[in-house]
Amino acid sequence: MVLAPRLQTSGQWHADAMKISVVEGDITCQDVDAIVNAANRAMRGGGGVDGAIHRAGGPEILEQCRRRFPTGLATGDAGWTTAGDMPARWVIHVVGPNYNRGERDRGLLTSCYARALQVADDLGVQTMAFPLISAGSYGWPLDDAIAAADEVFRTATTNVREARLVAFGPRAFTAIESRLGSGGDR
Ligand code: ADP
Repeated sequence: MVLAPRLQTSGQWHADAMKISVVEGDITCQDVDAIVNAANRAMRGGGGVDGAIHRAGGPEILEQCRRRFPTGLATGDAGWTTAGDMPARWVIHVVGPNYNRGERDRGLLTSCYARALQVADDLGVQTMAFPLISAGSYGWPLDDAIAAADEVFRTATTNVREARLVAFGPRAFTAIESRLGSGGDR
């Protein structure tokens, strides 16, 4: 696959037909078709971005998680619920590897992004926002967490038109911006 050069326009970058962008903020406020949740295997809510999404979306997210994922979800996999009271229509939940607990297979992290895009395609999603999966309490090193996302975004075959990385704070924003702006490892 030949990758088109990434062009910088108004702080946003293009890889093939999918726009890859970064914003600093709270993923629960993003006005996109789907937001991605860094959930855990139990799929019953948690801390970090998972807690924020359940709080902002309201109880229907947990109700759907119980119904749709009675035994939870495997690490590296993705599944959807609706988004309740949030501006987005869908939440695509993924389970990242817990680096702090020794889950260091990078393929499980890239699988989260790839599976999230597949689920998005199943739902007809065109715009989606991602947190940095596993880069919070699960402890995946920040720069590699960003690189994993960027690699999948640049190589995935998908109908999604925009993948927006939501940086929760200035440190993550600067690190993402520098990765996207540099064109990664090309
Ligand atoms: P994990 O357990 O997969 O590490 P966390 O929720 O602890 O999940 O963190 C994942 C990433 O999400 C981290 O980069 C964290 O800073 C970020 N994050 C936490 N809350 C939010 C939020 N409301 N919006 C966007 N990103 C968030």
